[in-house]
Amino acid sequence: MIDANTSLFGLIGNPVAHSLSPVMHNQAFAAAGCNAVYVALKVTDPGSALNGIRALNFKGLSVTLPHKVAVMEYLDEIDEAAKRIGAVNTIVNNNGKLSGFNTDCQGAIKALRVRTSIEGKSIAIIGAGGAARAIGFGLTTAGGHLTILNRTRTNGEQLAADLQADFLPLDECRPNRYDILINTTPIGMHPDTNATPLANNLLSKEMVVMDIVYNPLHTRLLKDAAARGCRIINGVDMFVFQGAHQFELWTGQKAPVGVMQNAVLQALQTKEI
Ligand code: NAP
Repeated sequence: MIDANTSLFGLIGNPVAHSLSPVMHNQAFAAAGCNAVYVALKVTDPGSALNGIRALNFKGLSVTLPHKVAVMEYLDEIDEAAKRIGAVNTIVNNNGKLSGFNTDCQGAIKALRVRTSIEGKSIAIIGAGGAARAIGFGLTTAGGHLTILNRTRTNGEQLAADLQADFLPLDECRPNRYDILINTTPIGMHPDTNATPLANNLLSKEMVVMDIVYNPLHTRLLKDAAARGCRIINGVDMFVFQGAHQFELWTGQKAPVGVMQNAVLQALQTKEI
């Protein structure tokens, strides 16, 4: 029930029309008994949007592409981890004071920790974009030994240098080298669902394989990994855990993780082919 006391939350990005964040957060607010609503806001000018958020007293925001870096200059304070990652995906508005956080990092680490330990593990991240940077930061902090596998050498080498990790061109990956393999590229995402970043003979059953793409839920990479006997982790786990952390930053209450997961899985069922 939306009334005069309803708290406002939203997502800023461009595009936002296919985001699953509204369905996830609105069901979470309802389950937790919060008088709050979450809307998707297509934004081209993040500076003006943040002035608007202050003026309209939105209590919190998610930030998605292409604004995760650009919003940082308009915030009053930035959490230390988000500063080191160099990107913000969550804003908390405390009486006009805007604070920035990065929950992608914790979301991915939590999704992994449910299935495996990280410390001392040999871990390959495929990709060197924003998600790879956030996840890589979390993994090195947690004591993983990281290799960045990327198509474009300069991007991969830069991220590897920033994280003090190794770099290997994606097409030079060899079998059985890693305990954990994480795809952070869009390869395999709808509608290109037959694509995969790695040939299946590079996967072995001792590996834990995670794909952060969540549409489809079971990407070609995850299907190949499951057929080889690997433990697999789909992109919904990371998405839900990063959202749960946002919910907790905004409300101070424990997130109804099961409700959030069901909301996302149900929404995906109508999309997945
Ligand atoms: P990004 O900054 O644009 O980075 C994309 C990376 O993928 C780059 O390293 C790029 O390599 C690589 N790449 C793209 N197309 C490729 C191809 N055809 N072959 C080989 N490499 C390719 O994007 P991002 O923000 O990191 O997001 C990446 C993906 O993660 C998106 O699909 C996004 O939806 C998903 N994501 C999921 C979650 C979640 O919660 N599950 C959270 C964040 C993001 P080059 O350096 O060679 O260009």
